[in-house]
Amino acid sequence: MYRPVNHGYIEAVIGPMYSGKSEELIRRLKRAKIAKQNVVVFKPKIDDRYSKEDVVSHSGDSMNAIPISKPSEIYDYIDERTQVVGIDEVQFFSEEIVDVAIELADKGIRVIAAGLDMDFKGEPFGPTPKLLAIAEFVDKIQAICSVCGQPATRSQRLINGEPARYDDPIIKVGAVESYEARCRKCHVVYK
Ligand code: ADP
Ligand code: ZN
Repeated sequence: MYRPVNHGYIEAVIGPMYSGKSEELIRRLKRAKIAKQNVVVFKPKIDDRYSKEDVVSHSGDSMNAIPISKPSEIYDYIDERTQVVGIDEVQFFSEEIVDVAIELADKGIRVIAAGLDMDFKGEPFGPTPKLLAIAEFVDKIQAICSVCGQPATRSQRLINGEPARYDDPIIKVGAVESYEARCRKCHVVYK
């Protein structure tokens, strides 16, 4: 998407798992590179789903990224030449990511952040709500519900193939945990 502004700003791309957030982030960053802009991409260190160094989409696109633990580490990798900063899996960062995004945008940088808007319970996830509030542009995208085929807005957590309970711990030893995209109607969270 062409944004007709010549100063910094924040774009957020949000939605459930499989909605194409990483795909869209990569698409925008590739186009910025085609425009010969100076692009730097970050991801949280905890997400090593496929690759420690790359932003990878479920459809196989990838782009090199710098894994960081704390939002303030971003400052170590940018300088006055940086024009675009991409951030994937933004929900895993602390709320400090919002202040960093604001500072970068104020410096004139285009910040593109992608991440989950809701956790598996359907509740707002980490710093994402605040980021949405201060972003200039927000694109909320949908996946396809794995049960009924309608647009999916939520991430269904499954443990051994069954819907997870509201208070199930993050990692269950010996259990097989998986996620799928579901619509509001098919999304199940047992209390
Ligand atoms: P996200 O970053 O939002 O998790 P990705 O960009 O990694 O999403 O992956 C999106 C891709 O995942 C789609 O283009 C499609 O190829 C694939 N995909 C697999 N399952 C689904 C689904 N249920 N709905 C939509 N896309 C899906
Ligand atoms: Zn459904």
